[in-house]
Amino acid sequence: MITLHSPVETVLGGAAKKVGKVKEQLGISTVGDLLRHFPRTYLKVDEPSTVTDLAPGQHISIVGRVGEARLRSYQDRRTQRTAYRLEVRLDTDGPSLRLTYFARNKGIATHFENRHAVGTLGVFIGKVDRFRDEWQLTNPTMVPLEGPAPAAPGDDAARAAVAGMRALFPVYPATAGVESWDLQAAVAFALSVLAEPDDPLPERLRDEQGLVGVREAFERVHQPDSWADVTRGLQRFRFDEALVTQLVLARRRAALRAVAAAPRTGERPDGTRGGLLAAFDARLPFELTAGQVAVGAEIEADLAAGHPMNRLLQGEVGSGKTLVALRAMLRVVDSGGQAVLLAPTEVLAQQHHRSLGRLLGDLAQPGMLGGAEEATGIALLTGSSTTQQRREALLRIASGEAGVVVGTHALLEDRVSFADLGLVVVDEQHRFGVEQRAALTDKAEKPPHVLVMTATPIPRTVAMTVFGDLETSVLSELPAGRAPIQTNVVPLAEAPRWLDRAWQRVREEVEKGHQAYVVCPRISEETAEQGESDAVDLDAEGEVVAPPTTRPAAVETVVALLREGPLAGLRVEALHGRMAPDDKDRVMRRFAAGEVDVLVSTTVIEVGVDVANATTMVLLDADRFGVSQLHQLRGRVGRGGLPGLCLLVTNASAGTPARERLDAVAATTDGFELSRVDLEQRREGDVLGASQSGRRSSLQTLRVLRDEGTIVAAREVATALLADDPDLRALPQLAAAVVDLETSAGAAYLERS
Ligand code: ADP
Ligand code: MG
Repeated sequence: MITLHSPVETVLGGAAKKVGKVKEQLGISTVGDLLRHFPRTYLKVDEPSTVTDLAPGQHISIVGRVGEARLRSYQDRRTQRTAYRLEVRLDTDGPSLRLTYFARNKGIATHFENRHAVGTLGVFIGKVDRFRDEWQLTNPTMVPLEGPAPAAPGDDAARAAVAGMRALFPVYPATAGVESWDLQAAVAFALSVLAEPDDPLPERLRDEQGLVGVREAFERVHQPDSWADVTRGLQRFRFDEALVTQLVLARRRAALRAVAAAPRTGERPDGTRGGLLAAFDARLPFELTAGQVAVGAEIEADLAAGHPMNRLLQGEVGSGKTLVALRAMLRVVDSGGQAVLLAPTEVLAQQHHRSLGRLLGDLAQPGMLGGAEEATGIALLTGSSTTQQRREALLRIASGEAGVVVGTHALLEDRVSFADLGLVVVDEQHRFGVEQRAALTDKAEKPPHVLVMTATPIPRTVAMTVFGDLETSVLSELPAGRAPIQTNVVPLAEAPRWLDRAWQRVREEVEKGHQAYVVCPRISEETAEQGESDAVDLDAEGEVVAPPTTRPAAVETVVALLREGPLAGLRVEALHGRMAPDDKDRVMRRFAAGEVDVLVSTTVIEVGVDVANATTMVLLDADRFGVSQLHQLRGRVGRGGLPGLCLLVTNASAGTPARERLDAVAATTDGFELSRVDLEQRREGDVLGASQSGRRSSLQTLRVLRDEGTIVAAREVATALLADDPDLRALPQLAAAVVDLETSAGAAYLERS
């Protein structure tokens, strides 16, 4: 009896001698693996034509065997280079037909030649024309039906192959020595002898979700009569995949809930209550938004629980996330613990330190004459702290004198130890890896609570898939008094003069007493592009389009040009990652104090920098930045109740993917909408991170955007199944698939990073 677990040898038939290649190169060792090796594509094959009945220009599908094939080289007149031409005589039921393939190089020519070994049977699809006295197909699409074989009298094999052909012909991912037709024959045989497989999904669930059974799904995918068959078959596999993924994530959430953490309720171990949060709230100069109140309550409940919080806080730039985080930190301090705020850059850590100090006022000056009674200390630790500063900070952190600790990666070092670390807040999660977060959480006696903040909105399904073991909160409204940002594209390809107009706008804003940012992709003429720009252009097929050849704008050059030219007389300063930390901090302070009119920088200002008086941003070579990055960057303006203006300067011409990306950014300020645009323009692999490339079994058929509905349904089903049966005892096949994924290297992609 042949089952999904039978070795693949049992169905290889004539291709049995290729079993080594099938196993090693295609990773197929069982019949189940073979049936899950889905067609790469399908070719639409019309009713086969015969050569006796043709008209020039007609689109035909014709069946025949290669009778003769000759490769010739010739001089291409236009390019002056050697090119190749494969001339094939195709023997058909009627008169023979001429096939001509043109190839630009030897590699392609050889590939054509190999596929047209004499005796190969196939369907050839294309438009016929007359060449000399023959019918000819030029560069036809070939559907191979059988490897080289002698033509039988009347060619019975060809007739049989044609009779068995369907309108949609599957083409399999093949490898050297194992052709699509080998796989097709093996699949057809397997399906004809396969014992009815046990379906991993119970019938009730299949009916509820409108899914076909496993066997039917295999048949529809491998032997479809229509595109609808393919879709319906694949849908079943997508659901299975989504379900297993969601089961793994749901179990992980459950496991996290089983870990013990110190509850932080606002009460200290000795039974007294801290009054820091209450005192802070009492002196806040504004009302919390409804979202801040709601998310604050969610976090408060998480902190009070006996297991670690793992929460992702999403919100547009300026939506008040930092404030929510600070209130959570104060609650932990009130409970006798310490809280850390980890920032991705030096500039941001310093800014957080300053703004927390400002928000807390004398609440951050413990033991000072006139300081508040509830006060706690704030410590700052970064890579550029002096030895003296560092020693002092380490001491205050270890003694617990500093309840609030702000810093960068420097906080991860071994010698940093805490009195009682209760909460870790990570600002801008994408800059921190899993290991780094682990290094910090290891510093607590019990696992601390974790709050991850991000202003890069993540579509719901990505959050569910990639961050599926985090709870998520969203701050969707901006605090009152936030003015809208207007974004315009400045297309230099069509309107070169508009650049002057852009600088004029900057001057006008400065004359009104406001400030501006100018952002460039590079630091200097010598440096490579700054940051990991994800602005790779893909064409419709997902191929990378060659990057533009001009060098993008550099901070140092632009500063010089602006000072002499269009912005002469204004106070223009540079800020970039190669400056000494002290210099960076000094420039930032002067800009914040209004002593600099125009700050020319790289993306160091991308996250969190908060200068309310800055109203205008000019992004040079804006096409060099990714969609999310552009959205982040422009969030730096329009923060102080003054309307913001963002100008995206580009050389990209209308209609190119780069321009479409910029137009999308200009058209909406909805970060969630933009994150979809971003995802659609990237390859899937980039979405889930590099760690999942090379995996075979997971997320093969699933696409986070296209299959949003499937993922949502699977998550609900997963939650319901586990509620009744946490170990999936009633569904052994699903349980096995879950364990498989949990233990496979492929599960790495489910790690948040
Ligand atoms: P995010 O971290 O989400 O970018 P922040 O927490 O830094 O946003 O807030 C941006 C600015 O808005 C800060 O100056 C902050 O003090 C202010 N802010 C935060 N919450 C409110 C509110 N409810 N009302 C008015 N201003 C607020
Ligand atoms: Mg912030």
